[in-house]
Amino acid sequence: MTGVGTELDQVVEELRSADKLLLTTHENPDGDALGSLLGMHWILRQIGKDSLMYLSPEEFPLPHEYRDMESSEIVGAPPADMNERVAVFLDCGNIDRMPVDFLQREGVHILNIDHHHDNTRFGTANLVDPQASCTAEIVWRLAKELGAELTAEIAGALYVGLITDTGRFMYENTTPEAHQMAAELMEAGVEPHRIYSKIYEALPFSRMKLLGRALASVQRFDDGALTRLHLTVADFEETEAVENDSEGIVDHARSVEGTAVAMLVRDLTGDRAGRRKVSLRATDGRVDVSEIARSFGGGGHRQAAGATTDLDLDTLTDDIRASVRRQLAG
Ligand code: AMP
Ligand code: MN
Ligand code: MN
Repeated sequence: MTGVGTELDQVVEELRSADKLLLTTHENPDGDALGSLLGMHWILRQIGKDSLMYLSPEEFPLPHEYRDMESSEIVGAPPADMNERVAVFLDCGNIDRMPVDFLQREGVHILNIDHHHDNTRFGTANLVDPQASCTAEIVWRLAKELGAELTAEIAGALYVGLITDTGRFMYENTTPEAHQMAAELMEAGVEPHRIYSKIYEALPFSRMKLLGRALASVQRFDDGALTRLHLTVADFEETEAVENDSEGIVDHARSVEGTAVAMLVRDLTGDRAGRRKVSLRATDGRVDVSEIARSFGGGGHRQAAGATTDLDLDTLTDDIRASVRRQLAG
């Protein structure tokens, strides 16, 4: 039996025997984070569990593309009976991506369900499958193991995780299983166009203006091996964009011929002023951007990773150029 098989059995057993659970995911939740969270919650409810979902109140309102996901049951404070609850982390590669004391305390019983290859295995039990296209795919498998029925509501949530993490079935993590899952979710009632149009169409105009700024900032280094986009605080202010409006912009830099790594640097505001968030995407198989992100205290997948840093733009760019050159040289 493979490692993941054993882990699956263990986590299924833990879920079966738990009565009260509290589910959470990573900060700045993306489609896989929210889809896995909601899907797992409804699965556990269906099999009679007392499940709660937690996200920091700062995450609301949710990013525009996820505004219609049913978030009313998500709580923003630790429940009084937290010491009786099993904590379930979904799509969270390390525990510091959910920076709240009540979940990081000694003695919290944690089930860690994720697909990041650099997951730090912080759980009491860990179900980490880097072959899974998204955490929602692992939740889909868990639904079967637990004998839960895929309602249209559960299927819709899991579909959001699937399409966002595979870049609409475009990235290397798009496997036959990902397509099998899509087919089953459709059979369970998902209407793809309805979900796609919520996520990728009808976006605020500020996003288009922000994208314009980002594209205007493009710079190519090392014959285009590194393509960089940069958004300043002024770009956000003048376009009236919010932080999360930069989601997906880095993908535009992937599409330039000769690019090995696409990079978006976003200057942060408020109490994080002076810091910047960097998003990295690899389009060359020799490059592992998660390794580069880890060198700045972040992480992620080989092809998609991120970090937050104090380094200035030039130093950051120079460091990343050096890493990319080294990785391309093998
Ligand atoms: P992003 O560039 O924010 O879209 O993130 C791309 C990928 O990198 C996602 O899989 C994230 O889970 C991961 N990631 C982003 N920021 C961090 C971070 N600070 N620490 C660890 N992983 C991260
Ligand atoms: Mn995620
Ligand atoms: Mn994910």
